[in-house]
Amino acid sequence: MKTVGYAAYSSDAHMKPFHFEHRALRANDVAIEILYSGVCHSDLHTVNGDWGPQPYPLVPGHEIVGRVTDVGPEVTHYQVGDKVGVGCMVDSCQECDQCHDHEEQYCRHGMTPTYGAPDRIDGEITQGGYSKHIVVREEFVLRIPEGLDMSRAAPILCAGITTFSPLRTWDIGKGSRVGVIGLGGLGHMAVKLAVAMGAEVTVLSRSKKKEEEARSIGATGVLASTDEEAMTNAASSMDLIIDTVPVEHDVTPYTSLLDINGTLVIVGQVGPMKEFMTVPMIMGRRRIAGSLIGGIKQTQEVLDFCAEHDIHPICEIIRPDEINSAYDVMSKGDIAHRYVMDMTQMSDDA
Ligand SMILES: [Zn+2]
Ligand SMILES: [Zn+2]
Repeated sequence: MKTVGYAAYSSDAHMKPFHFEHRALRANDVAIEILYSGVCHSDLHTVNGDWGPQPYPLVPGHEIVGRVTDVGPEVTHYQVGDKVGVGCMVDSCQECDQCHDHEEQYCRHGMTPTYGAPDRIDGEITQGGYSKHIVVREEFVLRIPEGLDMSRAAPILCAGITTFSPLRTWDIGKGSRVGVIGLGGLGHMAVKLAVAMGAEVTVLSRSKKKEEEARSIGATGVLASTDEEAMTNAASSMDLIIDTVPVEHDVTPYTSLLDINGTLVIVGQVGPMKEFMTVPMIMGRRRIAGSLIGGIKQTQEVLDFCAEHDIHPICEIIRPDEINSAYDVMSKGDIAHRYVMDMTQMSDDA
């Protein structure tokens, strides 16, 4: 199946149109016309080669929303016309303990990311959502529930599940006290989801600049990490802190905000972190943890949860040819919304 998308051709070049072909449908494959594609901070890291060499040309994108256009003969859950989504992975071994536990993201044999990895069967490099079509095995296709706006649902498939999963892991519910570091694409979803679960949510940021924005999405306010007095007063006041900062930083100022047994979970920075003090950890059995997206079952759960609670990511819809300027803005700092490309605006002869 011929299609077209935007690809990175090298680690320093901008995205350019790229024509390529998807595999013919296998028995358990679903063919999807992509309508919307979220632009994730990790796309930028990946095409820049920050996480290692990449198989260029590479079409990024792992927040995909579209419609089914064809199904293989063994597909049972989807039909032509269904509203569907694809997140950060498109395959896994389906046999190990993690896959059996619906935690395919931790597959013992490695899950297959949506772009930039060899397909498990034919070895072809997977290509992602900045394109007009994708072919994915049925088990990795999500259903977009009625009640979700298709044009704003895409970021739930990465930013949403990445923050939903730790909220579930640490049993966040009514009365829980949650801190969220950073109010970008991940952070604003963390706030909305935790608030909908009944938690009291505080945004942690360098300054109070985003106070109004934080309140508008349900947080009680912003605690400025530079305000020493406020930080001291907030010691031992949180059960869980979700750290969404996507670059190397110091977690020490935040760990003493945790109550005894509290956890700071890192979901943003993948790579080195600054050294941290062990004192708050030892003196209060506090933990620093990490978490990677979530399994397919839980990804469906967060989509359904968002539909039920009318939670939509804050999105700015752009044309595919605006991707390079979006990357420029993203590389300069966190933005409190997600760029979403309207892939129907991409012409076949781009
Ligand atoms: Zn992502
Ligand atoms: Zn597995």
